[in-house]
Amino acid sequence: MTKYLLSIDQGTTSSRAILFTEKGQVYASAQEEFPQHFPENGWVEHNPDDIWQSVLRTCQRVLAENQFSSADVSAIGITNQRETTLVWDKTSGKVIYNAIVWQDRRTAQFCDSINTPAVSYAISEKTGLCLDAYFSASKIHWILENVTGARARAVQGELLFGTVDTFLLWQLTKGKVHRTDATNASRTLLFNIHQQCWDEELLALFSIPSSMLPEVMDCSADFGRTAAEFFQGEIPILAMAGDQQAALIGQACFKEGMAKCTYGTGAFLMLNTGNKALKSKSRLLTTVAYRLKGETTYAIEGSIFMAGATIQWLRDALKILSSASESEAIAKQAKLEHGVFLVPAFTGLGAPYWDADARGAILGLTRDSGINEIVSAALQSVAFQTKDLQKAMERDGLRPLSLKVDGGMVANNDLLQFISDILAVNVERAEVIETTALGVAYLAGLQAGIFSSMDELSSLWQCNKKITPAMTEAQRNRLYSQWQLAVEKVQK
Ligand code: ADP
Repeated sequence: MTKYLLSIDQGTTSSRAILFTEKGQVYASAQEEFPQHFPENGWVEHNPDDIWQSVLRTCQRVLAENQFSSADVSAIGITNQRETTLVWDKTSGKVIYNAIVWQDRRTAQFCDSINTPAVSYAISEKTGLCLDAYFSASKIHWILENVTGARARAVQGELLFGTVDTFLLWQLTKGKVHRTDATNASRTLLFNIHQQCWDEELLALFSIPSSMLPEVMDCSADFGRTAAEFFQGEIPILAMAGDQQAALIGQACFKEGMAKCTYGTGAFLMLNTGNKALKSKSRLLTTVAYRLKGETTYAIEGSIFMAGATIQWLRDALKILSSASESEAIAKQAKLEHGVFLVPAFTGLGAPYWDADARGAILGLTRDSGINEIVSAALQSVAFQTKDLQKAMERDGLRPLSLKVDGGMVANNDLLQFISDILAVNVERAEVIETTALGVAYLAGLQAGIFSSMDELSSLWQCNKKITPAMTEAQRNRLYSQWQLAVEKVQK
């Protein structure tokens, strides 16, 4: 009987359930958006019930629409928005506060208040990250400090913490299992990525009792089984990975030096560094790429806050586009070197600048600049920001051999050409662009014995389009140096 792998992709704005064939092809999918809550300036929350119910409904829908039951699914894999933090009662299962989303900045001041050179050094040495509100630790601390009675209950061992993967596993198993995987653990700021364990010193720093923490597993492992009531029978849950790591796996970047960049709302460049956890000198993050059979593979990661979101801004705030896809045809009407630069520092600049106070700007306007030039500059900024990350990686002695790309923006062929031109690397667009979901389908399939090895997975990966650089070096250098000048102007 033909069986399928079911991937749960719980993202920041929507939940998706995707059925894959055992050859890694998308068979069917269902998706549901859910509300975002912004209770105060800089705060971002999700209702935990929205997260869970949207996941349950999309899974049930994709199965029902294909007349499938649990018997048709060999395994489930879970991938998720990373860092987002939930705390719930061990006995009642009741979540004690909304999920605090990775974008939430409410704990920035607290992070500043505990930041000393010694603390910052210890954090970077142990976790590969930097002391920032982005990661889970300060969010857990906030919940324990601000929800009435929470700290006392936590100390009594009554409360559990989980990122979204852990929370979904807990729900799917009806409170039987409290586990996470090494990639998600590596984004909490509490996990020692070298020793692969929770770190007592960091737990003390954030005043978090260790009894709250989930057990950390490999990415492919027997995580538990879904309660029979959800899908007319139990389904084994055999894989977990944070979204960016899952995309790296879905792109089959299994060798040292292989890199992928996911161009969605933001963009995330990740480069596989093999069994070495390299320490970046240029403010990139070191993270767990995946852990399989107890062996950890590491990656260097750089994040761009505004990629597709800049195009959304042109559409929704400036109203100079009616759709994101229109951007390609409009930008085509501008000269390549139009002299306009858009620095999308709307919420500060991410890696390698980490300048929270920088703000966006459009520079180089002249009387012949118009909508075409501004749209082109917005798209070009995505390539320039990727180049910034490439340069940072080079300073760390790393050079991506080629770049595999995915995410909503890669539908734009001219953008891919410009990225290839500015980076002077080959860019490869994947055939299956649902690479995040594909990544955990691969991981679940490995555990289920459907796929035998990473080599087999590499052979399944297919390129949809390969783009090679066509720009002269002189033009590349000219454009990039003008971009660098523009960035300097917005930095605080
Ligand atoms: P996410 O998973 O972060 O929600 P997606 O991977 O679905 O994002 O990508 C959506 C983003 O891609 C949007 O921000 C949109 O503006 C952008 N986008 C979609 N199509 C195009 C296009 N043809 N050209 C440029 N940007 C695009």
